[in-house]
Formats: sequence, C-alpha cells, structure tokens
Amino acid sequence: MKRDPVAFLKEDMTELRNNNLEWIIRYLEQGSKPHSVVDGKEVLMLNTNNYLGLATHPKIIQAAIDATKKYGAGAGAVPVIAGSFDLTKQFEEKFAEFKEVEASILCQTGFAVNSGLIPMLVGKPDIVVSDELNHGSIIDGVRLSGAKRIIYKHCDVGDLERQLKEAEKEGPRRICIITDGVFSMDGDIAPLDKIAKVAEDFGAMIFVDDCHGEGVLGSGRGIVAHFKLQGKVHVEGGSMSKGFGVFGGTVAGSRDLIEFCANKSRTYLLSTAHPPGVVAANKASIEVVESEPEHVKRVWEHTNYFKKEVQSMGYNTGNSQTPIIPLIIGNPGKAQELARVLFVEENIYGTPIVFPMVAKELSRIRVQMNALLTKEDLTMALGAIEKVGKKLQII
Ligand SMILES: *Cc1c(COP(=O)(O)O)cnc(C)c1O
Repeated sequence: MKRDPVAFLKEDMTELRNNNLEWIIRYLEQGSKPHSVVDGKEVLMLNTNNYLGLATHPKIIQAAIDATKKYGAGAGAVPVIAGSFDLTKQFEEKFAEFKEVEASILCQTGFAVNSGLIPMLVGKPDIVVSDELNHGSIIDGVRLSGAKRIIYKHCDVGDLERQLKEAEKEGPRRICIITDGVFSMDGDIAPLDKIAKVAEDFGAMIFVDDCHGEGVLGSGRGIVAHFKLQGKVHVEGGSMSKGFGVFGGTVAGSRDLIEFCANKSRTYLLSTAHPPGVVAANKASIEVVESEPEHVKRVWEHTNYFKKEVQSMGYNTGNSQTPIIPLIIGNPGKAQELARVLFVEENIYGTPIVFPMVAKELSRIRVQMNALLTKEDLTMALGAIEKVGKKLQII
C-alpha cells in the first residue's frame, strides 16, 4: 500500500486535542479593546498585549488613515531595494530619541528581529548565554546562528556568572547574554542592572528583548530606562505590537548597531517593509505615550489592585511584577476548563496558556491588564474569577 504523505496532519491534531493542547482561535468582530465582540458575544477581554489601550486610540487611528491616503496601502518592496518612506525615517528618529539611544530601526516584527539579527551578531565561534525562560523567537534565532547555547537559571545572576566562567574557558570569539526584559508568560522582570554588571566583567554583549516591557516599564520607555542603563545595553529589541498597540519590531542602540542590522539582518533584507499607515501609527503611538502619561499610570493602578485581589482569593500568580498576571493552575485540562467557563458563562475572555508556551504542569490563564478597563470591569471580572475558581475547585 502506498503511504499517505499527509496523514500526520490529522494524526498530530488528534493527539493535541486528546491532550487538551489545542489552540482555539476566536474571532473579534470589533477592535482589540476591553469591551469587544468575540465569536458573536460581548465580552470583557483580559488577554491582550495592548496594555495601554492604544490599538484603538483616535489619534493613532487618524495617523494611519492620513498616511494611507497620502502614501497608499503597501510598501512595494524591502527597504534596501526600493527605498523606505520618509515616514519611517521620522519614526526611527523619534523612537531613538524616546529610547535615549543614538539610533533605531523599524523591522518587520519582534520575531523577525530575533530570527534575523541574532544569527548575524553571533555564529559558530561564539557562545550565547540565555535565560531558561526566554521567548521562543530568541531560541529560534540562537539555533539559526549556530552559536553554542548555554542556559542559565531563570533570572539567576549567580548562575549566569557561573555559566559565563564556563563559557570563557572555551575561548569563544564573542559572548552574548540574551534575556527577555519582561517575561511574557510570568510577568517578572529580568535583573538587568545586575546582568549588566556581570556582563562588563566578562566583556559580554547584552541583548535584551523588551517586547513586554515597552509601554509599561520606565514611563513606557522599557526596561533599560527602568534601570537607568541607557548606553550600557548593547542591543535592545522590541515590538510596536504590544504596549504601543500597533505593529512592528524595533532595534535600538548605537548607530553602528543600526547600520549593521540594516545591512545584515536577513529578515530586514528579505521581507517587505511596513505599510505607510502602520509606520505613521507607530510614530503617533510614541507621541501619545509621551504626551498622555495617564495610560501608563492607569495600567499600573489596575495591575496593583487586581493582583492583590486575586492573590487574596488564593490564586497563585507566580512572580508577576507587571500587568501580566498569570493564574497558575497546573493541569492543562483544568486551565482550559476555567477559560472555557469564564468565556461561556461569564463573558470573560482570558486565554489558557499551555504547552509549548509553558511547561505542561504550569498551565495557566494569563490575565493582562489594560489602561482602558474601568473599576466596574475589574469588579465584575474578579467576581467571576472567584466564582468559577471555587466551582472548579481551583481555589
Ligand atoms: C511577542 C514577543 C516577540 C514577538 O514580537 P512580535 O512583534 O509580535 O513578532 C518577541 N519576543 C518576546 C519576548 C515577545 O514577548
């Protein structure tokens, strides 16, 4: 009998379903904002990275419309082939000033920064020393680089130092320490101040991926500003798609770094630039963060209140230090069930996070705060989370 070359597609999906590990995509019929319509239902969304609520901010929407009218819908090519927009240059200058660095570059996505740039910064003769909970896109970038990867215990600077000593013995050409700024599944903050000290001792390059710190830490400027480490972190990768509410990846740092990235990062060289509407919206978003500090303030007020309340109900929120507040359940089936009941019975959209995003036994619902939530929204959400948690014997 001839084999079926694609039988594995259905088999693999059946296995995922049977293990409660299937991702279900729901469809939004309105914008990504706390009160939205999802799969035909009015729900409260507690699961977006749009921390400041900027995805639907009127000034940012208007900037996208104006630029689209003036420049059209698409970019036409990769920047190095057929040019970038003057809008992009304006964004990059604005963003560098905001980040308090020499220069910045707008890349396709945060993922593309990691998969395109990391393999150019390090290669076979080098060693990457990487936090054990780093984002999957960092892991992929390091794999593509061919550099040796040494893992250090999560946020453990003592262990980092031990691993750096080991790395040094091997006589690598370069050593690069890579860490998330804010860890996306746990909401804890990398000890970047201590990491920077250790890095200096070993002459190691520091690459921080601050996708979840931007918009939230350091008045929105991210983890480097939070620890006042401007000029001491060699590569700052980020995303315009999270706290800033729009779309795109960023690299911020020295002018040398940015020129290197534009000439070498394969994703920058080989993937089309952003539509002008996106670029203009990104710039408007940074201007809003600077001129309307109330959004950052509100998301922190909500975070402090909500976290205290769920903890007093008995939920395990791990080491959360930011608006990412995991409700760690353990069993993946139970996490899925909590999310399902909250959605179906309580109109609350909170996403279960299971393997491979987190280890199987640390399955959770990841709650994320948003500046646009109101006190009434939070009261409603907390009431439902308590009720369903008790019903399912989680708390
Ligand atoms: C979300 C995320 C990315 C990917 O960013 P995109 O712009 O969505 O591609 C990369 N790294 C980390 C740490 C992230 O949280």
